[in-house]
Amino acid sequence: MGTFFDNLKITAKSGADEVKKTIKITQLESDISQLEKQEANIYAQIGKMAVENDGAEKYGDLGTKLLDLQVNRAAKTAELAELKPEEQNSGSVAPSEDKDGFCQICGTKYTAGTKFCSSCGAKLS
Ligand SMILES: [Zn+2]
Repeated sequence: MGTFFDNLKITAKSGADEVKKTIKITQLESDISQLEKQEANIYAQIGKMAVENDGAEKYGDLGTKLLDLQVNRAAKTAELAELKPEEQNSGSVAPSEDKDGFCQICGTKYTAGTKFCSSCGAKLS
C-alpha cells in the first residue's frame, strides 16, 4: 500500500503550509493591532483638538465624563507632586515671569518656560 506514505507526504506538506499560514496569521493580527493602536491614537488627538476647540460640554455624557476624569487626575497628580520629594530644582530661576505650574488639561507639572505639556501636549499658558 503506497497510500499510507502518500498520505504522510501530503500531511507533512500541508503541515508546513499550516505553519506558514499560522505565521502569516500572527503577523497580520499583529499588524492589524498596530494599525488599530495608531488609529486610536489619531482619534484621540482629533478628539483632543475637537474638545479644545469646542469645549467638552458639547460632547454630552462623554464630555462630562472626560471633565470628571481630568479633574480627578489633576487632583491625584497634585497630591502625588506633594508627596514626592522635589525632583528637579534645576538651578537658576529663569528671569522671566514664567512660573512652574500644572497643566490645566491633565494636571501634569511643568517647569517655567515650557510651552507644551509633556504628558498630553496641551498648550501651556
Ligand atoms: Zn497636560
